[in-house]
This record gives sequence, C-alpha cells and structure tokens, in this order.
Amino acid sequence: MHENIYTIPINEAFEEPCGCPLCRLEARLRSDALEYVMGAAMMEPDVRIETNRQGFCREHLSAMLAMKNRLGLSLILQTHLEEVRKKGLPRGGLLGKPDCASAAKTLHKTADSCFVCRRVAEFMEHYYSNLLHMWESSDEFRLKFDNAEYICLHHLTELTERAAGALGKKRQPEFTDKAVSLAVKHLDSLQADVDTFCRSFEYQNAGKPLSEEEKHAAERVADALCGISFAE
Ligand SMILES: [Zn+2]
Ligand SMILES: [Zn+2]
Repeated sequence: MHENIYTIPINEAFEEPCGCPLCRLEARLRSDALEYVMGAAMMEPDVRIETNRQGFCREHLSAMLAMKNRLGLSLILQTHLEEVRKKGLPRGGLLGKPDCASAAKTLHKTADSCFVCRRVAEFMEHYYSNLLHMWESSDEFRLKFDNAEYICLHHLTELTERAAGALGKKRQPEFTDKAVSLAVKHLDSLQADVDTFCRSFEYQNAGKPLSEEEKHAAERVADALCGISFAE
C-alpha cells in the first residue's frame, strides 16, 4: 500500500513486540508536541496565538516545567496569562455578575483546554484512520495487527468507535472481533497475575516467589486499562 507520514510510524509501532502500539504512538506524539512548543515554535506568532488561547493542562504544564527551559516557558506563560486575565476572569470577580453560570463555563473552558492535548489528538485522528485503512487493504499489516501484544482499553474504544465509519458494515465486525480479542486475551492473563499478587499476602503463601510479571501486576493493569506507564 501507499506509504505516507502516518503509515510509516504505525508500521514501526506494530513491529515492536511489547505493549499497546497505539500507546507507543501517542507517547511519541506527546513528547514531540512538548519539544515543538518549547522549541522553535515558541517564537512563531501563529503558534503563540494558539498557546495563548488554549493554554495547557496540568499534566503537560508539569512536563514543561520539568524540561528546564525557564525563560522559554516564562515567555509562553507571560502572554498566556495576559489572555487568561483578559478573557477568562471578569474584572472585579464573579460576585454581583448577572450571569455567574456562563462565567463559570468560561473559566472551566480556560482551565481545561490544552495546546499539547489538542495537537496530539489531531495527529491521533490521522493514525486511527490510516490504521483502519491499512488493516482493510494490507494482508501484511493485518498480520502485524494480530501479532501485537495487546491493545489497551482506551485505544480499543477509540478504534472500535471509528471502525464502523471507516470499514463499513461488512468488515467492521471482523476488525472489532480481532481488536477485542487482543485486549481480552491480555486482560485474562493480567487477571491471573494480579490474583497471584494479592494471594501472595495470605499467610499460607508467605515466602513463595513471584515472577516479574506478577510483581508488577498493578502497573501492568493500569497500562492495559489506560496506558498510564506511557503517559508518565
Ligand atoms: Zn493504548
Ligand atoms: Zn494537555
């Protein structure tokens, strides 16, 4: 099939043997977006208009603080803060305003929007549609898909939601069946590992050695449910 800027990273992510390939793609997008916003893009007026308007969520602002470019970050925040004060917060507070509910809505929007989250989501949308197209049109990719270790629940949901529109009624059930069975097989084995970990605290199991998988069952369950280890 025809390669493009999305198909190459998708193929690469599915060639790595462990974890959820979509979590891997998303983690890479997140770090690229952070590098982008703290790098050359910072001085581009068009980007600054967007970072001023959208701001950053808690997770990504913490990540930017950890990048140790205080001047760059301060310049970004300087103009973003000006915009928050201008648009997000009515002068003199909310008391006595006729429409506190809509002011609260504006505040909520200001606090919740994030330039990095939005950029990652836009790229992920391209990955989802290209992945579904690759699955439909390439035997080679279908084989790679089947050989993934698992798809986490978060990405399983994102893919199955888009499968009907992208694949049509004929092929959507086959795709959904394959994707769900990848997730379920993994959850079954995690269930066994987390059960063993919990039982290891019972007195009759004292001293019984645990495998590495069993020792890290909680992290692995969190990862399979929502890709937590990739997010951190
Ligand atoms: Zn995932
Ligand atoms: Zn964010």
